[in-house]
Amino acid sequence: MITVILQPIGAVDPEMIAYLEEEMESVYVAVEVRQAVKVPAEASDPERGQLEGTSVLMALPSPDTSIDATLGVIEEDLFVAELNFIFGLAYGNRAIISLRRLRQEFHGLSPDPELFRVRAKKEAFHDLGHVFGLPHCEDRRCVMCFSNSIFETDFKSFRFCERCWETLEDSGVVLSYRIDD
Ligand SMILES: [Zn+2]
Ligand SMILES: [Zn+2]
Repeated sequence: MITVILQPIGAVDPEMIAYLEEEMESVYVAVEVRQAVKVPAEASDPERGQLEGTSVLMALPSPDTSIDATLGVIEEDLFVAELNFIFGLAYGNRAIISLRRLRQEFHGLSPDPELFRVRAKKEAFHDLGHVFGLPHCEDRRCVMCFSNSIFETDFKSFRFCERCWETLEDSGVVLSYRIDD
């Protein structure tokens, strides 16, 4: 049985965590929400006003067993060496997503709480997909398609395409969407 550990990093809106918990529960077997951990000071790049993603990821507590996954959720904007920004990152059995660029306000637009939530769900499923062994997918509607911009995030769905779905099933990750989705 796979447990996804939802790990807020620093101050994260509890409503967002509760939403992600519910959405994950509709797909994964079990979800555990942990107390927030501190934003790792060593990840901060004050000149860029961002955090270095790999350091944030490495500072995340590992899940208790190798089949489980930890998903960190952070407000701060992230980057890695070769990219100006990233929506999220995954390595081994840990993943993180940043909420900063998922808000319409970041792009100079009026707030859209529902769009914000759906974007977070897509990025969460995407990076958990990596944890469960999936590479990027060519299908632009598949949640495993790489997003380089918020437009690409909006274009893809939150679902895994049939091929990615089968790969997950073959590797023993059992998924089920609720019927009303
Ligand atoms: Zn990816
Ligand atoms: Zn796919």
